[in-house]
Amino acid sequence: MKQENYFKKDRCRICESNSLEKVLELTPTPPGNNFLSEDQLDKEEQVFPLELDFCNDCNHIQLGHVVDPNFLFQNNYSYVSGTSSVFVNHLKRYADYVVNLFDIETNSLIIDIGSNDGTCLGHFQELGMNVLGVEPSR
Ligand SMILES: [Zn+2]
Repeated sequence: MKQENYFKKDRCRICESNSLEKVLELTPTPPGNNFLSEDQLDKEEQVFPLELDFCNDCNHIQLGHVVDPNFLFQNNYSYVSGTSSVFVNHLKRYADYVVNLFDIETNSLIIDIGSNDGTCLGHFQELGMNVLGVEPSR
């Protein structure tokens, strides 16, 4: 496996502890939702480690490696949240749940990191919130 476009994360993404323990290792895998062009079909596709690490200090489970976001999201990344009616409905229920759980006042600011096409934020807007999406893909 080529060691380019990714690195092993040796500190927890939440608490920065170095007490991480590998709990699951799957077969190295090409990036999801990266459709290949016709001229790429007969070429070997780069794969990345697919491992989960458990943080012994804060109990967060996280991916063990970080893939360069320029590689992951700037090529042919094709995932769009709004194309699945099941997911759209889930995000609507999620927005209702979060606003009620935390009793969020109308006109509050909701920020979504990794907002994709804004489907989730659209539901918060319908609930009267101001929204800001941050999305690395084109
Ligand atoms: Zn941690």
